[in-house]
Amino acid sequence: MGRMLSALSPRLMETGPVDLKMAPADKMWKRGRDADNVEWLLLDMPGRSVNVVDEAMLTELDAILTELEANPPKALAIRSAKKSGFIVGADINMFRNLTKAEEVEAALRRAHKVVDRLAAVPYPTVAVIHGNCLGGGLEIALACKRRVAVGEAKLGFPEVMLGLHPGLGGTFRSTELIDPTEAMTMMLTGRNKSARSAKRLGLVDLATEERHVAAAVAAVAKGELHSAAHEGLKDKALSSGPGRRFASNRMRAKVEERLRKEHYPAPYALIDLWETSGGDVDNMREGEIKSFADLLVTDTAQSLIRVFFLREKMKGLAPKKSDIGHVHVVGAGIMGGEIAAWSARSGMRATLADLAIKPIAKAMKPAWKMMEKTLKDSVKARDAWDRLIPDPNGYGLKGADLVIEAVPEKLDLKKKIYAGLEEGMKPGAIIATNTSSIPLEDLRADLKDPSRFVGIHFFNPVSKMQLVEVVKHDRLSDETLSAAMSYVTSIDRLPAPVKSSPGFLVNRALTPYLLEAMLLLDEGVDKEVIDEAAKDFGMPMGPVELMDNIGLDVGLAVADELRNRLPVPIPEAPQWLKDKVEKGELGRKTGKGLYSYDKDGKPQRGKKHEAIPPADLQDRLVLPILNTCAACLRENVVEDEDVLDGAMIFGTGFAPFRGGPLHYARARGVDDVVAALDKLAEKYGDRFKPDDGWTKLRQEQRAAA
Ligand code: NAD
Repeated sequence: MGRMLSALSPRLMETGPVDLKMAPADKMWKRGRDADNVEWLLLDMPGRSVNVVDEAMLTELDAILTELEANPPKALAIRSAKKSGFIVGADINMFRNLTKAEEVEAALRRAHKVVDRLAAVPYPTVAVIHGNCLGGGLEIALACKRRVAVGEAKLGFPEVMLGLHPGLGGTFRSTELIDPTEAMTMMLTGRNKSARSAKRLGLVDLATEERHVAAAVAAVAKGELHSAAHEGLKDKALSSGPGRRFASNRMRAKVEERLRKEHYPAPYALIDLWETSGGDVDNMREGEIKSFADLLVTDTAQSLIRVFFLREKMKGLAPKKSDIGHVHVVGAGIMGGEIAAWSARSGMRATLADLAIKPIAKAMKPAWKMMEKTLKDSVKARDAWDRLIPDPNGYGLKGADLVIEAVPEKLDLKKKIYAGLEEGMKPGAIIATNTSSIPLEDLRADLKDPSRFVGIHFFNPVSKMQLVEVVKHDRLSDETLSAAMSYVTSIDRLPAPVKSSPGFLVNRALTPYLLEAMLLLDEGVDKEVIDEAAKDFGMPMGPVELMDNIGLDVGLAVADELRNRLPVPIPEAPQWLKDKVEKGELGRKTGKGLYSYDKDGKPQRGKKHEAIPPADLQDRLVLPILNTCAACLRENVVEDEDVLDGAMIFGTGFAPFRGGPLHYARARGVDDVVAALDKLAEKYGDRFKPDDGWTKLRQEQRAAA
């Protein structure tokens, strides 16, 4: 009966002969041998919601393999007992603050021994994979002779995001098993595969549902589940040196389009490894270990590992699960339309209101496109679409838990709207504003209950920008702040709590950078040269192009606002720039700004210049960002240095491999940064004067040294 029920219910997990409740608590691997002499190993690492690969787990596995040598099973099935999935990868904590490649190498060799041993056992082995099977998890699965993916399993090699490549046999086991170009693409992009596409590639041998797991394991034991790796389809040319060289050059060219070798060495190292040793398992193993160890101690990998933890930290700032079920958005313009669509995509009901019908209608088509593109599943996209409700009459207001205002940036208009909202909304609901620049103290002036008013400042485009600034003010309640933070994490964005102060963090820190680029243009430096200098530093886009993206009108308005409200010198924009705005040359949105744009929205760049850029060009651009960040930390605009670095990375794309502006300042040396600012101030004026915030950072750095 129990068997029958478990066969009927997709939710119960097949654990073979293992009774998880009775299994010894001090073991990570829970074991049992079934009636067919199949050994089941269920990984359930204590105190964690997910399984990871670490030394203790592998040591325990090694001991089990020794025992099995004495008493070999007919087959071995490995799966996870965690609901969340198989294994999410290596424990990234192990990777932190490592500086000695030899030590990493030694640890890797120990780990490889266990995985190689698993790969070499004489009996059939199968990894039963549900949920996430990533990095080291996939490498363990690849060491099994068969793989069965269950339900919505996700398989991938995300190491490249940490400045690494697979290090536990993944580089050779994947390229040996499936089409090496496919395997390399997985490792170079870090993109996951669904169960279905993994089956198509031959990465798994069967994609099935939970109720068929027992039968699948039995089939493996009987030798009836055949490998799905398409030997015949594999590109034979790639087994030869010249073929691999050709393919490697193509991969390199593709990577070069996105990532510079001096900033992100890992993908290049992986291509080199496969080019020189592909097809030779022993050389690949040796090369993989060495290359991984070398990469792990680079500044790039250590900074990207830092970024991983910054993201975790920011997610962790939201204290609880969000109980916001219905969001009502007022103002269906550029921002409001996307905020509503993104909320609906994330599982909430979202009503979208506006004065006029037209903007609502205009918001719907891009919303559908975004849902299709990001959810990659027509049923899910359909459901999300059903949750997005055009609401020209504002009926959604009375049922909403959260009302987000995204009407034009005018104080009186916003205040007038709040009066109406407070009248119509249900008790306990929250009003949030998406304002970029109006002080929340002014906006809340006439509210009956300012404690339920908060800033939720999204960036454009909402579907791409991970950061959301959650703006505080002195009358905000803790409860509202925590609800806003939780809402942000529940829509898969990263919240940064900021004080209501001019420009908050991100716009304030970007403005002097953008304006400096305008002054450089004014001095006659070519826009291409300016943009290239920023990209050389590691910015995803140069400041001239960024200014065009933001819109010259918007950028200048933000600068004016900051100039009026901040006590620091913010340079005036050159007259020709103001004239451009007058003429309606506003940037990408009008097809012409600082660059001209073709019909696909691509900027028309001039020829590459031979002229040597001014020596201080990069510092002139980057140091104002750092200086403003030091000021924001000193003023408690953001309280936590990590959150500040994270906000700049996730909100502006600030060179992730540099670990954030403050991390970069520390790595470069605070003394050096201050000296460089002093020099620039002497040459170009007070706008470069080092902020007082550096004093504390400098003392900290000296004390630590
Ligand atoms: P927008 O002009 O594109 O859209 C505003 C919408 O509000 C329009 O559709 C308009 O019809 C509607 N509206 C006007 N009065 C209304 C009323 N009384 N009731 C209901 N709807 C009304 O503006 P936007 O760029 O989306 O900006 C909205 C807010 O978001 C502003 O506060 C802005 O500062 C902020 N913001 C904008 C950006 C950006 O990049 N555009 C980024 C972050 C924050």
